[in-house]
Order: sequence, then C-alpha cells, then structure tokens
Amino acid sequence: MLTTGPRGTRDILPDTSGYWQYVEKTIRDVCQKFAYQEIRTPIFEHTELFLRGIGETTDIVEKEMYTFTDRGKRSITLRPENTAAVVRSYLENKLYSGPQPTKLYYVGPMFRYDRPQAGRYRQFHQFGVEALGASGPAIDAEIISLAIVFFNQLGLSDLNLFINSVGCPQCRPVYRDSLQAFFRDKIADLCSDCQSRYERNPLRILDCKQDGCTKHSQGAPHLADCLCDECGSHFTGLQQLLTAAGINFTINLRLVRGLDYYTKTAFEIQYAPLGAQSAVCGGGRYDGLIAECGGQPTPGIGFAIGIERVLLALEQQQLLPTVLNAIDVFVAPVGAEAQTTAFQLLTELRRAGIAADMDFTNRSLKAQMKYANKYPARFVALIGQDELVQSKVMMKNMETGSQQLIAAAELVDWLIGEMKK
Ligand code: AMP
Repeated sequence: MLTTGPRGTRDILPDTSGYWQYVEKTIRDVCQKFAYQEIRTPIFEHTELFLRGIGETTDIVEKEMYTFTDRGKRSITLRPENTAAVVRSYLENKLYSGPQPTKLYYVGPMFRYDRPQAGRYRQFHQFGVEALGASGPAIDAEIISLAIVFFNQLGLSDLNLFINSVGCPQCRPVYRDSLQAFFRDKIADLCSDCQSRYERNPLRILDCKQDGCTKHSQGAPHLADCLCDECGSHFTGLQQLLTAAGINFTINLRLVRGLDYYTKTAFEIQYAPLGAQSAVCGGGRYDGLIAECGGQPTPGIGFAIGIERVLLALEQQQLLPTVLNAIDVFVAPVGAEAQTTAFQLLTELRRAGIAADMDFTNRSLKAQMKYANKYPARFVALIGQDELVQSKVMMKNMETGSQQLIAAAELVDWLIGEMKK
C-alpha cells in the first residue's frame, strides 16, 4: 500500500511533466489571445454545490463523487468538475458587477470515482473555459473557436465537432412528453439506469452507451423538431457564425444534456483515433445554472477538455516536443580541487540567467560528457588542473564538437554572445 498510489491516480514524473507544461503554456497563450482570464477555485467545495450545480440525477452525483464529512461535520466533495465552482465564485465575489461577459478559464485536477482505463482516471485534469453574462450565439461560437484553436495550435487537426441544441425550459417539456411516449413500450428492454431515467430524465436515455438502449433509441423524436422560436434562431445563428468562421461541424441530434439548466447549445469535440475515449472536449450553454445556484438569472456557456486525453492524442501523433530539459551549460569539474571553482562558476552563470547544471557525484570526465548529452547541454564547461592554474575554462560546443579556452572572468559575456548566434 505504501508504495502504490490509489487506483485511478497517476504520478506525473519528471520525464513527462515537461509535456504538461507545454500543454499548459499553450492553454495560457490561447486564453490570453481570446481575452479569457484565469480563475483558481478550491479543490473541494460544499457537497450541496455539486448536488445543485451538476444535478442529483446525473451519473457524476449518483455514482462518482468523492464525498466525506470533515471534522466540523460538514459534507465536503472533491470537485468532479469545475463549472459549479466557477459559478459559485462568480456569485460570491460579485464578478457580475464588472463589465460582462466575465470570461474565465481554469486548469486543474478533478476527481471522479470512474472505472479506470486508458484515458479515464479517478484524478484527471481539465482545462475549462466559462463565459458568463452573454446570451447571444456569438459567444457560443467564440468558445467553440477557442477550443479548436487550442487543438490546432498543438498540431491536432483531425477533429470532429458535433453540435446540437437542447432547447430550454419552454420547449423541452413538449419534447420530454413525446420522448416518453416513444419509449413507453420499450421500457422493459432498456438498461436499469435508463428505466429509472424514463421518469426522471428521459433525455438521458439518448445519451446511454449500452447497446440495447442505443438500438431502442433509433428513430426517437428529435428535440431540434420541437425547439421554440428563440432556441431555433439561436441554433441557426450559431451555425451561421461557425460557417462564417470556417469551422466545420456536424449536427448530432443525439447530443443531450438532460438537466433543466442546460439550454440551447450543446457540443462535443472528438478525436477519433483515441477510440473509446475519443471525447476530448464537452461543453454547452447553461442559462439556468446561475439562478439555480442562487444568483439572478444570468446566461452562461463553457467547455471542459481532458488534458490526459489531449496528451494521449499528442503522443499517438508524435506531436510532443522532443527537447524538454535542455540547458545552456553543464559545468564539468575534473578532480576534487575543481569543485569549488565549478560551483562558483555555476552560481555566476545562473545569476546571469543562463540555464546551467554541474556534476555532483564525482563522475569521470567521460561519464560527465555522457550525462551532459542527456539534457542536452549546449556547452560543457570543463575545469581540470590546467584550467584551474590559468583561471580559464575549456568550453566545448556539444553540437559542433569545437573547443575554446575562455578566461573564467569573461565566461558569462562570452556565453551570452554565443547564445545569440
Ligand atoms: P465532462 O466534464 O464529463 O463533460 O468531461 C469533459 C472532458 O473531460 C471529457 O471530454 C474528457 O476529455 C475529460 N474527462 C472526463 N472524465 C474523465 C476521466 N475520468 N478521466 C480522464 N478524462 C476525463
């Protein structure tokens, strides 16, 4: 137990943390260009927030939350997603009193008691974006465009964007009735989850991945046929905007979110080569959520992207950066006497902003050269007996193999000049 982490968790080790930093840097670059600002909310919240904000009939709330009672007898839950917490923070910190929309992004770990497999973990990471306070389809198109630009910037282009409209509390009850009528004589053939969904939340039957349920939902009525005028024109508006921006999409009438506060736009981005876990981004509009959490009725839309899946896709496509830990100089003292001079030089280099390291384990010169190549280091600064006596350093360019003796006092300036070349 002591040497094994809990099921569904993973360590991000030094040989891969650079890939995470690369993806996170891309997130920050793209969000900055789209004028979204970062929000950091706590890892845990009151359980009640998720019961309200995600919905008591969802799989997340029914089966997947890490909930515990703290020492003050409060029910606390590790966040399984972050939209509810962003909405809580928006209300608590009165972000609505500034200019709207409030455009936010977050990056961080989420926790779900899921069945672990490749691309599915119990602690996983999401990059998400939320825009609160704008109701028109243009912000929906902007959010979708942000996700696409993010994937494209990483080099992933083989993406499928699916969109749908899930209507609103005005038009959905009509659809709900026609859906219940459609499934009425099929209830016995549905999975047990869907049997209970039939009464509580029949839209979610369309979302079920069980073979029987998928088969029986063929031919089910489409919500798109029941949309009210406002939802209909929002959906048409979104399609026009995406087309104008050159963003390809497919309408998927089975894409649903069954809860009342999800409204209008729902979308998903799939990266097919990932197979069973091909969903890399899920999002939608939630015009009823802020009121559900106790605020004034305020529109909102957002998405979440699973970072582990993005990394899997990048790895499959060989799109990960190859050089992660490069340094400018490796200082190689030969013999115990050279250690102090080497350390002094190392400190000077670092103070000057040069990425540098040195040998700390008395390796032989040959072993040090091999070690320096692993970073890789651009130069090796060799300090042996001769160099010590002359207050010089032998600089070896690891790319070209050329060597040059440089006065120790001039090393920083010399290196800065070399690195500009
Ligand atoms: P959701 O919040 O369920 O809409 O999920 C949004 C995205 O988060 C999905 O498209 C996945 O990329 C990712 N995701 C969801 N659950 C997991 C999980 N258990 N492990 C890894 N990634 C996940």
